[in-house]
Amino acid sequence: MKHIDAHIHIERGEYTLNWINEFVGKAVSQDMSEIWLLEHCYRFSEFVPMYEGVCAHSNYIDEWFHRKAGVFSILDYLNLIEKVRNKNYPIDIKWGLEVCYFKKFENLIYTQTKDLRLDFLVGSTHFIDNFAFDHKQEHWDGVDVDKIFKHYFEISTDLANSGLFHGIAHPDSIKLFGHKPSFLLNPYYDKLADALAKNNMYAEMNSGCYLRCGCEIGMDVNMIKAMKSHGVRVLTASDAHIPEDTGDNIITMEKILNEVNE
Ligand SMILES: [Zn+2]
Ligand SMILES: [Zn+2]
Repeated sequence: MKHIDAHIHIERGEYTLNWINEFVGKAVSQDMSEIWLLEHCYRFSEFVPMYEGVCAHSNYIDEWFHRKAGVFSILDYLNLIEKVRNKNYPIDIKWGLEVCYFKKFENLIYTQTKDLRLDFLVGSTHFIDNFAFDHKQEHWDGVDVDKIFKHYFEISTDLANSGLFHGIAHPDSIKLFGHKPSFLLNPYYDKLADALAKNNMYAEMNSGCYLRCGCEIGMDVNMIKAMKSHGVRVLTASDAHIPEDTGDNIITMEKILNEVNE
């Protein structure tokens, strides 16, 4: 069986072949056959304008953003990819971008990605309007959980219908701090899965939130069922941010996916 880790960040090291070799080495030792390497789009100056609103909304996000964002130009990344593509590796390597989805910046995303010739673009709902829900538990104080969950899935469905992406990252990461809405999420899962299927997109079974917060690993079982019943391709993904985490929990998530029936 082919083991895939479809979401690995390279952001904590230099753009060198040695750094990439560390991910490959770990992937081989974890029995992976394919790894998908990526960067957050905000690492590149070309995407910085999308974040003005979220930075203006919160000092915490403003500080976080200015520590991490706009450190390279997308050309630096393409040069690294070219260097890696010219070498031989024992496993397949795909290259992509994780793009924060903002409906009002669909044009910017389209313009900045259309000529990059990357292997994949994965869209993420990281912001609900200006609320950066996945940074700290205490940012949820006073938040209307029902409203936020509903809006999270509406934005994610817009993401799927935007036609900009090959896949959606961690499609129920809204649960990472253990919040639960008062209503059943099944209709939202169904709507999202339908939009993903119509746009020929994959969904990630992503263990990043589990690694960070110890919440349920990957997607909710009912979301897996919705993806399966709509024929959406599900890809296992570690969301590793360091080579050591490459391939983590992939086999466990494959088992879960196999056990869940429509
Ligand atoms: Zn993400
Ligand atoms: Zn990620």
